[in-house]
This record gives sequence, C-alpha cells and structure tokens, in this order.
Amino acid sequence: MENDSHATTFLDEVASLPACEKINECIQCGVCSGSCTTATQWEYTPRHVIALVRAGMKDELLKSNSIWFCVSCYLCTARCPRDIKPASIMHGLESIALKEGYKPATSTTTMYRTFSDSIVKNGRVYEFGFMFKYFLKTNPFAALKMLPMAISLLTHKRMPLTAKKVKGKDELNIIVNKLSAGGGQ
Ligand code: SF4
Ligand code: SF4
Repeated sequence: MENDSHATTFLDEVASLPACEKINECIQCGVCSGSCTTATQWEYTPRHVIALVRAGMKDELLKSNSIWFCVSCYLCTARCPRDIKPASIMHGLESIALKEGYKPATSTTTMYRTFSDSIVKNGRVYEFGFMFKYFLKTNPFAALKMLPMAISLLTHKRMPLTAKKVKGKDELNIIVNKLSAGGGQ
C-alpha cells in the first residue's frame, strides 16, 4: 500500500488518461460491477478498482488479477449513472501497469497486440493469421483443440486462408501512427 502523499499522484495519473477524467465523480453505486461480464474472475470488481485508485493503492491494485479480465464489453460504461467510463479506466490502468513492468494476469494484451499488428499489416483483421499467431505466442496446444473448428470454417469458406489487404491501408496506418504518437492505449 502506498502512503497518503502518493495517493493523489496515482489518482491524478489515472484521471489524466483519455476518457478517465471523471473517475473522482464515482458514487460507488456498484452498477459497473453488477453489469460486468467477467467480474466473478476479478480479485477486485470494477467498482472496487475505482475505489483503490482513489485510495492510492496502486501496487495492491496492479499486482492483482483485476483489470486484465476486462473484455471491453462496455456494459459498465453504457450503464454508469455518472458517465465515468470504467472500461477506459481499466484500459488506462493496463497501460500504466505495462509501462511500469507489472505482469499481466491474462493473455489479453498479447491478443490486443496481435490483433492490432494484423490491422497494421493488412488494413483489416486477417482471422486465420491472427489466431495462428496468438496461439503460437500464448498456448500452441490450445490451437490443436481449435483445429476442427478452423477446418470447418475453411472448408465452408467462412474464413479465408490468405490475407486480403484493404485499399487505403497506407492511409489507415497514418491514422494508427498518429494515434500511437498521441499516447493512444
Ligand atoms: S457504475 Fe459508475 S458511479 Fe457506479 S460504481 Fe461504477 S463507475 Fe462508479
Ligand atoms: S468493459 Fe470491462 S469492466 Fe466494463 S463491464 Fe465489460 S468486462 Fe467489465
């Protein structure tokens, strides 16, 4: 736990991130936790995560498995009565945790990176390549379990075997680079 002199710093750090500025207006109603699709897996639910940020308990929070289970369903954000945007706060906290060397509790960040790499390379997600690379980086044996489904998708032409690049990929990458340079998460 951090001392009181650091508490404001952590709250300010989070509040300065995109779409996180209203964190201090949270009324702790718990609607986000009650709506969260994965909250049963979290050591601290979304409501509790926000309380820990406001209490300055950075290390305790970022060492926990919370935040990493956020699957970006945005139910919390759609339902929050104070327009707090908890999903953005979770992703902002992920950014802080990664920058400061905390180990992710799930492979979600690997999935995000593999997903965005596919978009940068092709201008769109190339599903077969994305899944292949994701399993290679995380759990190659899990890919074997997915093999029957992959074969079925390929034979029914529901998933192309080769990547198709979109027109205007270079322009898209200019946008992606500008977002990255601007500190996008
Ligand atoms: S729903 Fe909004 S106001 Fe309620 S606890 Fe969650 S973030 Fe706070
Ligand atoms: S966006 Fe994340 S924190 Fe919000 S309800 Fe969905 S999984 Fe939970």
